[in-house]
Amino acid sequence: MSFSPPYKCNILTSKRKTVSISIEKNGTVTIRAPYRINGRHLDDILAAKKEWILRKIENMKTREEKASKMARNLNENDLKELKNKARVTLERKTFEIAQKYNFSYGKIRLSSARRRWGSCSSKNNLSFNWKIIFAPDTVIDYLVAHEIAHTIHKNHQKSFWTLVEELHPDHKKSRKWLKENAHIIDI
Ligand SMILES: [Zn+2]
Repeated sequence: MSFSPPYKCNILTSKRKTVSISIEKNGTVTIRAPYRINGRHLDDILAAKKEWILRKIENMKTREEKASKMARNLNENDLKELKNKARVTLERKTFEIAQKYNFSYGKIRLSSARRRWGSCSSKNNLSFNWKIIFAPDTVIDYLVAHEIAHTIHKNHQKSFWTLVEELHPDHKKSRKWLKENAHIIDI
């Protein structure tokens, strides 16, 4: 490779046919490429994507910094209290929306996953990331609506989003908030 990028990069080749670029949390760039990728071709792709890659790395750094700053300001007691508040809030909100729209669900579990805000299992057990407690009330409502909608649709296809829209009309704003505040999930 003649292109010498100003970032750490990892090239993984496999049977795939296309090139994909992703940025890891530590700022390393992972490039997935076909086995027989032409070095020049890869250089061209990386050169064309340079701005995008650098911007993504920068965003990732800011996100990590914000998260560790937030974490530093929380002690054991705060954490305990916040998790408790999260449990009570999420249980109440799930119960309310389920009653109102006649959904049924299994158990509710609190998670501290670093990758997702919530999930719904095949048995309709719901899992919520306690860190959602840092979000505005309406965003918490959105997350609950999202997961409860998964008790009906186990995918993110159109019918799923139609249902979410019905349950939580301003879901686009909430999703935007979660995207912009993604550092919270890294606490
Ligand atoms: Zn989902």
